[in-house]
Amino acid sequence: MKGLICEGTSEDSVRLSDDIELVGDLAPRQVRVEIRAAGVCGSDLSCVRGKYYMPLPLVPGHEAAGVVVETGSAVTYCEVGDHVVLSTFSNCGHCPDCESGNPGNCSVSMGALRQPYREGDQLLYNFAGIGAFAQQTIVDENQCIPIPPEMPLEAAALIGCGVITGTGAVFNRARVQLGDRVVVIGAGGVGLNVIQAARLVGASQIIAIDRVPEKERLAVEFGATDFVLAEGEDFDPVRAVHELAPGGVHHAFEVVGNTELLAAAISMVRPGGNVCAVGVPDLTATVTYPFQALHQNKNLMGIRAGGARPRHDFPLLADLYLRGRLKLDELISHTAGLDGIHDAFAALQTGTEARTVLLPNA
Ligand SMILES: [Zn+2]
Ligand SMILES: [Zn+2]
Repeated sequence: MKGLICEGTSEDSVRLSDDIELVGDLAPRQVRVEIRAAGVCGSDLSCVRGKYYMPLPLVPGHEAAGVVVETGSAVTYCEVGDHVVLSTFSNCGHCPDCESGNPGNCSVSMGALRQPYREGDQLLYNFAGIGAFAQQTIVDENQCIPIPPEMPLEAAALIGCGVITGTGAVFNRARVQLGDRVVVIGAGGVGLNVIQAARLVGASQIIAIDRVPEKERLAVEFGATDFVLAEGEDFDPVRAVHELAPGGVHHAFEVVGNTELLAAAISMVRPGGNVCAVGVPDLTATVTYPFQALHQNKNLMGIRAGGARPRHDFPLLADLYLRGRLKLDELISHTAGLDGIHDAFAALQTGTEARTVLLPNA
């Protein structure tokens, strides 16, 4: 089958292979999924640039939806033919963290490395427990969340990362309330989902900040009440926010994965406010901030994938989409085959577009 293989630490080290095979039989609780749609996320670019220190070679891709084609002998949660959104949490499902509703905190399978495919004699790792840039992959039962068959799989794919990461930060972690004021730093694929989730729960002011002027149209369409263009050497994001929201906002979401912007976000929130680290920088990066900026009862939150509870959240997000309350189609700028990966990485860097979705089996 076809798939993309990353062999180095730059996007140029990603190539298309015609010769990938899945390895071995399914374990009792594993599922084989045909990938119908896979979004190209900023984390895929960080991954192939080596910023997550993954072993190589690997198949990137982690934001995906597809169709179940085979189930292990003990699988009960999905069956062959089901349309599923894939979750990056290969959580065990029954440890104290899983049972208390925090599957993202599960230590049993967090960071587990797998090599579900090979090219010739070379075994290949999967990125983020999925490795979606291939025609099929093998995941755990807990990673397959069935959705209604009428939902288009291109839109469904985005739920697995960009949508849950943005909306979950608002719904599950910051718990934005009616009338709250919010700033969102970075209005890309994830930031737009922070914006639309804040609109859904009734935030009164939603300030979007981005360096690309083309982002204003989408940011406003998704619910931003103010758009700030970050341009010029002396641009001060903290002052810009305080001019629009005197006294500061209730919640600041740093979506870019920039440690200086995360530190600045602390000074954007009012006392008692939430500073939400949504974007992921190089995993070894250090954040420094003035002590006094955080002191007045502010909360600095680490957020992994929107604090997701996939079996609860993914069907909820699909339902909101199907009822016309959540925008997903508008997030897709292009679809392409697996050979469109390099154009997709280029588009991510210029930041002028929302998402490219790859269709490995089209
Ligand atoms: Zn667990
Ligand atoms: Zn992602």
